[in-house]
Amino acid sequence: MHEQFYTILQVSEIIPSVSVSISDGSARIETLLHDSRKVSNPAYALFFALAGRRDGHQFIEEVYASGVRNFVVSNDEIDHANFPAANFIVVRDTLAAMQALAAYHRGRFACPVIGITGSNGKTIVKEWLAQLLAPEYRIIRSPKSYNSQLGVALSLWQLDDTYELAIIEAGISQPGEMQALQRMIRPDIAVLTSIGPAHDDGFSSTTEKITEKLRLFEDAKHAVYSPDDVQGVTVPSMGAHTTWGSGNVVLQVVGYEMIADKRCRIQARHANTDMAIVIPFTDAAAKSNALCCWAVMLSMGYEQSVIAHRMALLQPVEMRLEMKKGINNCTVIDDSYSNDLSSLAIALDFLRQQQQHPTRTLILSDIPGADGHEEQVYSKVSNLLADNKIDRIITVGPQLLERADKFGFLNHIAFRDTDSLLDSLADLTFEHEAILLKGARKYAFERVSGALMAKVHDTVLEINLNAVEHNLNQYKTLLPSPVKLMAMVKAFSYGSGSFEVANLLQFNKVDYLAVAYVDEGVELRKSGIRLPIMVMSPSPASFEALVARRLEPELYSFTVLDDFIRVLSNQDVTGYPIHIKVDTGMHRLGFPVQDAKRLSSRLQNTDAVKVQSIFSHLAAAGDAEHDAFTERQLNAFGKFANELTAALGYPVIRHIANSVAIQRWPQAHLDMVRLGIGLYGVENKLDSRLLLQQTGTLKTVITQIRQVAAGDSVGYGRRGRLVKESTIATVNIGYADGYDRRFGNGVGYMTVKGRKVRTVGDICMDMTMLDLDGIDAAEGDEVIVFGDVTELAANIGTIPYELLTGISQRVKRVYYYG
Ligand SMILES: *Cc1c(COP(=O)(O)O)cnc(C)c1O
Repeated sequence: MHEQFYTILQVSEIIPSVSVSISDGSARIETLLHDSRKVSNPAYALFFALAGRRDGHQFIEEVYASGVRNFVVSNDEIDHANFPAANFIVVRDTLAAMQALAAYHRGRFACPVIGITGSNGKTIVKEWLAQLLAPEYRIIRSPKSYNSQLGVALSLWQLDDTYELAIIEAGISQPGEMQALQRMIRPDIAVLTSIGPAHDDGFSSTTEKITEKLRLFEDAKHAVYSPDDVQGVTVPSMGAHTTWGSGNVVLQVVGYEMIADKRCRIQARHANTDMAIVIPFTDAAAKSNALCCWAVMLSMGYEQSVIAHRMALLQPVEMRLEMKKGINNCTVIDDSYSNDLSSLAIALDFLRQQQQHPTRTLILSDIPGADGHEEQVYSKVSNLLADNKIDRIITVGPQLLERADKFGFLNHIAFRDTDSLLDSLADLTFEHEAILLKGARKYAFERVSGALMAKVHDTVLEINLNAVEHNLNQYKTLLPSPVKLMAMVKAFSYGSGSFEVANLLQFNKVDYLAVAYVDEGVELRKSGIRLPIMVMSPSPASFEALVARRLEPELYSFTVLDDFIRVLSNQDVTGYPIHIKVDTGMHRLGFPVQDAKRLSSRLQNTDAVKVQSIFSHLAAAGDAEHDAFTERQLNAFGKFANELTAALGYPVIRHIANSVAIQRWPQAHLDMVRLGIGLYGVENKLDSRLLLQQTGTLKTVITQIRQVAAGDSVGYGRRGRLVKESTIATVNIGYADGYDRRFGNGVGYMTVKGRKVRTVGDICMDMTMLDLDGIDAAEGDEVIVFGDVTELAANIGTIPYELLTGISQRVKRVYYYG
């Protein structure tokens, strides 16, 4: 292996800089960082202070404190005296600097590069090509969907001379973006997967969008695309064109035929010969993606017999990292579909974010691409594990078995194959830990995950943590930067699960969390949540537990204030943070506005507490009819807060806006807002300026299907009368799971195979019956009970809040990053 790393001095010569200030030019650079939350390998890292919603320059101090010494910045006003041991390269544009470094790095390697763009299918085509080409090449590919201006740079940075082929995804959303990606990727083979019918927001026309995407092809030696997609736009590649689709193309589709076992045969003509492949999928997207891969393999000179053989073995691409409840209080992160260095790094990063357990175990298989380069590959694995603070590693496969010396710093148990691990599983203890399963497909780790998983009842609420993060960021775009954000995680995070959501919010640096009861706050503290937490309804009986866990009470009357001060005085505590709630019109909890003076003097006469914030709650912020009322609430609050703050003589956070007020009442943002239901993807549609994503999907399965004759009835009280012979499916969810009884007798519907099916008869405690109405479903099929709750809630005269929080605790929550 030649020198893989750069010195900071070399980097300063590669990227165009405005000025440099380097104290140690020999500092070695291995890792590129851009996110202060994800510092790893600090001694050999280079931090790029990227512009954006969170200006990277604000985090230099924090990153420096964690040991990073090398920085690329675009702001030369940094006080170098604060960072005595640091090297700084000042550039005009930090992202462009990272791209220049990535482009230079890519230029050092002669291995072929496949660049993939298109509207849909990029990730699948990338993953399938990796499966199809693996027998000949050691392949590096961009992890998950790292296809942005930043993601492509980071992907290319992973290249080294152990790889023989790179597959890189390029995604764009605006004119001008492909040029930067093309300069970095410089693909030998450029691939267009598909073009969607609509032009994306950033483009003025579909032609403009296609033209921009095709810039990836400019210097490619091979161009692979379907003329149907390019719609007459000239493909700029000078090299050979391998076209596919209909008409006069290199790979001409003749027809599709469904065959047994959910497979599809695709017939085509190529070079005057009839040929076919069979793929184990039948959906339209899979057919198009398979054709695209077929054309790529032809352009690379593969024999048709090899192509056909490998296509038949294609595996579905698992795109999400799932987190499930395991046995003995463990959390299992299941990634048993692929194993390579880049996806391992991502999975370890995810594992590191899990702080609910004191220990972390990794179950890892041999890495299939390591053959011939075992030393380098497993040294990298060893470094990754050291960086990510793994406590125990259980390995499966002969290569890892022989390299136990690389993992001497941790508790390592090695097995030759999956069967031996399964045989010994009962002797290994797994208790209160986070377990990451990372195995290549051939090791069939799903058998291990099955054994480690707590028994699930078939109804689950799946929660997409990426969507929660996305929604948080959507609301942040409405807030000027000094405005703080309190996230409401009461009622089990509106049904979504307290710890997991709170952990994500902590990771995303919200300022405060709020829960309803002390118990909820104690649970969060126990699982490692360190953010300040406000408790809205603390009972006096729980004050001691509250203080012990440094939870901050909402105090709303003189009685609770005095009770609380008494508890503090008994413990000689002073300056304890509290939150004062004032009633400006909601008439639920709070000091009356008239009591400002009396409250001021009470607070001036004690040093037991310190007022952290003053707040109130709006009763009808989403309702235009009551806007005058809301304004009166805002005025009353302003007056009260001013009076109290003046008396206290120190700064106090003021807040009043909930989710809908964040959108409708910018003047109510004040010092902090309280984001609740919007985080979970539900909003007041009329005022929507946001693109929120659905965060939860409630799913169950069909347990039985039967034919019932016309005139017969279904369920209790014979209320489900059938007017015609019907196919009735029974599913595993009832009102005890939180499926409201008001959904019975056709009011509610669920989704089976993408189609709506109505309920029949009354909802039972644990079961519901559905009229399949001609849909071809089977026992064991999945049923979506609900995703978007807004319309369903309206159907039974309630609000989304009630549906979300009503999902019972016995319904398992499964978390994933979608
Ligand atoms: C629940 C709650 C919120 C959040 O309300 P959403 O409508 O869910 O945004 C804000 N403030 C208080 C006091 C609450 O109880």
